[in-house]
Amino acid sequence: MKVLKFGGTSVGSAKRFQEVARLITAEKQNIVVLSAMSGTTNSLVEIAGYLYSRNQDGARDTIASLHAKYNGVINELLTQPESVKKAQTYIDGIFKALSEITKEPFGDIQERIILSKGELMSTFLMTTYLEEQGVNVKLLPALSFMRTDAQGEPDLEAIKVLLNQLLEKEKGADLYITQGYICMNARDEVDNLKRGGSDYSACLIGAATGADEIQIWTDIDGLHNNDPRVVEKTSAVRHLHFDEAAELAYFGAKILHPTCILPARYANIPVRLLNTLEPEAPGTLIDSVPDTGVIKAVAAKDNIVAIKIKSSRMLLAHGFLRKVFEIFETYRTPIDMICTSEVGVSLTIDDTRYLSEIVHDLKKYGTVSVDLDMCIVCVVGDMDWANCGFESKVMNALKSIPVRMVSYGGSNYNISLLVREEDKVATLRSLSQTLFG
Ligand code: ADP
Ligand code: ASP
Ligand code: MG
Repeated sequence: MKVLKFGGTSVGSAKRFQEVARLITAEKQNIVVLSAMSGTTNSLVEIAGYLYSRNQDGARDTIASLHAKYNGVINELLTQPESVKKAQTYIDGIFKALSEITKEPFGDIQERIILSKGELMSTFLMTTYLEEQGVNVKLLPALSFMRTDAQGEPDLEAIKVLLNQLLEKEKGADLYITQGYICMNARDEVDNLKRGGSDYSACLIGAATGADEIQIWTDIDGLHNNDPRVVEKTSAVRHLHFDEAAELAYFGAKILHPTCILPARYANIPVRLLNTLEPEAPGTLIDSVPDTGVIKAVAAKDNIVAIKIKSSRMLLAHGFLRKVFEIFETYRTPIDMICTSEVGVSLTIDDTRYLSEIVHDLKKYGTVSVDLDMCIVCVVGDMDWANCGFESKVMNALKSIPVRMVSYGGSNYNISLLVREEDKVATLRSLSQTLFG
């Protein structure tokens, strides 16, 4: 059994729905995870934004134009009157619910309900289309098995139990469709796995069911060796180790949700990245097999803040780092990079919600300075310390770029560099030229 996930552009129009339907009916017994149609989640975010700022008219206009778009999709996708009626009733119900929300007091619970509607609509439309085509398909409601815990992290044990019970109940179907991105949280509210979270849903479902393979179908022929939105002439990397893919996803390769590789790595299930627009292309395979001596790819993560704590005392004396880390733990703020010297320590965060509290508390231990608008550039591949020459290649690419921090040796897979956000494009381009010609 495989899990196949199709992203927003893969189901961006009635025609794309039909092409995905062709791809997913080629094999039986698979679970298909769908994102919302491209642009839908952005529109839902916009509606929530209007409601937060009490602009009911703005919200209603966006709801009306989204409703018109879905009416168009129904008419283009479906031909039989019963399936048109069934889809129309469902979609009208969704938009009625959205309109009702505009009349209620608005908060984050309502926002998360609004954000869940895109995946509910795409999966309903796909299931109705497949039924019309005579496929023995079942829709598995993600809200009945996809769960997060009190920390907001996926609860893999609960997902495993609930999903396997549901599959047992629904056994006999040739194909299963479910929603990516959406889940229930520990307070039994509708929630989500953050933007791009359908990749995470697919990998969690793969791990929970012990799938043979997880396929992430998108609009590009695999993970490229640099960000194709910024750098010209990037090329697809055909093979990655789980750890390499996890680093690239976490450090900004948008093709994958930042933490989606973790459940696949934990369950040792290969992940294949494939192109819906070019289904025969080989894509990228991610598994537990390492490759030696190759630098694979570069990625960048924006909106990073660097914090330096400097003291004239013996800063790195026994227990100092523990005290610093405790401050970040108190504010539940993860640290991405860290560099130390005898007189100071620099670290980076991307969650700045508690920045002023953290800085205030750190001042007990020394002089604190903060650099905003920084960017982590991450070079990934076989970086075993015994191999010679790759560090100098990376540094050579950066000879005209100011580098605030360098981190190497934390894993065998990466070198991370902290540069100013304004130098990101130059850094990525220069690294591409030096490392990949
Ligand atoms: P989906 O809607 O299918 O989830 P995404 O937009 O989330 O698709 O991810 C695919 C996009 O990620 C590509 O179109 C590409 O522009 C972007 N991207 C950024 N970095 C990379 C990379 N290293 N390799 C491939 N694609 C990347
Ligand atoms: N629809 C959601 C988003 O746009 C989830 C996803 O596409 O993975 O972020
Ligand atoms: Mg995505």
